[in-house]
Amino acid sequence: MHTKYNLHLTDTQGTRIAVYDPYSSKLFWKDNGEDLIVPEALDYKEVEKVSPTSPVGKVKNLQKIKIQMGFACNYSCTYCSQNNQRALQKDTAQETLAKVPSFLMKLDQWFDGGTDALGSGVHLEFWGGETLLYWDAVEKLARALRLRFPKIKLALFTNGSLVTKEMTEAAAEIALHFIVSHDGPTFNQDRAKDPFEIPVQSDNLKHLFNRLNPLKLISFNATISPKNYSFIKIRKYIADKLGVDPKLVVLTHDLATPYDSAGMNYVANPLLRRELVNDIFADMLKQYPFELGVGKVDVILHDFFESLRTNRSSSGVGQKCSMDLPTSIAVDIDGNVLTCQNVTAKGGHKIGHIDQFHDVKLNTAFHFSQRQECVQCPVVQICKGSCMFLTDKLWEGACDQHFTWGLAYLALAFYLQTNCYLTKIEGNAIRRPGETIIEVIRLES
Ligand code: SF4
Ligand code: SF4
Repeated sequence: MHTKYNLHLTDTQGTRIAVYDPYSSKLFWKDNGEDLIVPEALDYKEVEKVSPTSPVGKVKNLQKIKIQMGFACNYSCTYCSQNNQRALQKDTAQETLAKVPSFLMKLDQWFDGGTDALGSGVHLEFWGGETLLYWDAVEKLARALRLRFPKIKLALFTNGSLVTKEMTEAAAEIALHFIVSHDGPTFNQDRAKDPFEIPVQSDNLKHLFNRLNPLKLISFNATISPKNYSFIKIRKYIADKLGVDPKLVVLTHDLATPYDSAGMNYVANPLLRRELVNDIFADMLKQYPFELGVGKVDVILHDFFESLRTNRSSSGVGQKCSMDLPTSIAVDIDGNVLTCQNVTAKGGHKIGHIDQFHDVKLNTAFHFSQRQECVQCPVVQICKGSCMFLTDKLWEGACDQHFTWGLAYLALAFYLQTNCYLTKIEGNAIRRPGETIIEVIRLES
């Protein structure tokens, strides 16, 4: 059952209530019925609402491709989404390399090459484990793909600890974007020795940055959590280590999500949620107006305002990672099609094989419309359902985490739109039975 919410928007003059329906993106003042943002309603194409009982296939006109090279890693970061999968997939770098020719030979079976058969409109990412442990295989694949699809966007994720100058030159030549996973000040605490503190690695990272930044082929991605969420601080830390102006560092982020019991330690405690929402809100507000690009805050806000402007129905919204869409695929080097790049075929996440492409069925995931919490959630247009395959306690933790950040974004959006603080949300049900009021921003803060 969908529900509407009363949003209490407060400034020095008092409180005015806006009524918000996140499922039709309608927003109006309660006292006079006027829209807060004049909409130009658009018709949205409904997404397929995947669940184990209504699985969805994949199509050859793919727009997002993730190649899972193997799960080996030289680190053991405590919050890693792959920790409970790693032991299940044991290919060595040599074994993966040996599989590249057969992988390439079968590419036409499942990928049409984008809108022009040259790769236009397609993003392809290489994933590990630590992807650079599989560098020889990655380089071979990337060079072959660049030749066949000159317009395809190629990228890889790395923890940054194994970069060499030779890799940097190859990346520049191939136009292969490096996304370096780095959390700034908490790296040593949660992950391993910070590569910026190891002279050879630091030198190689600086070389990587200086070579790829002018080509717009490098960015950093931070995993944020209740103890480390300030995009400004994270970016400054990285920029200081690189010895460059922070404005040159492109920083994106993921929210720490629990995939095992260790990951639960990174979840916002619901009892302390209000304090945290206030702190996140205040930190994001510090970025305004010049720094909203840090951490992709501007992208999230823009998407939310767009939902209001176009009365975006939640039926037209896919999962936040978009791996539920038929046009997104994760495939391992053996040709197994996976729920996503973070899970293995042997870990219950094989959803088909490229040799029987028509039989591929995503039957391991839930679109947010299938979750009882998400169909009564005021931040659903921002959160888009957290991780689509988690269940039980891990799902509850993931939802709590995303709800916390969703509230901070919602408060920021309303502050920027109305100059008022979102102090309270009321509704018949807010995610869970019995929750009808959520206190958000404290005026004194
Ligand atoms: S399903 Fe999506 S959110 Fe969940 S681990 Fe995979 S990519 Fe991440
Ligand atoms: S915060 Fe929770 S209930 Fe709301 S959309 Fe996200 S996952 Fe669903």
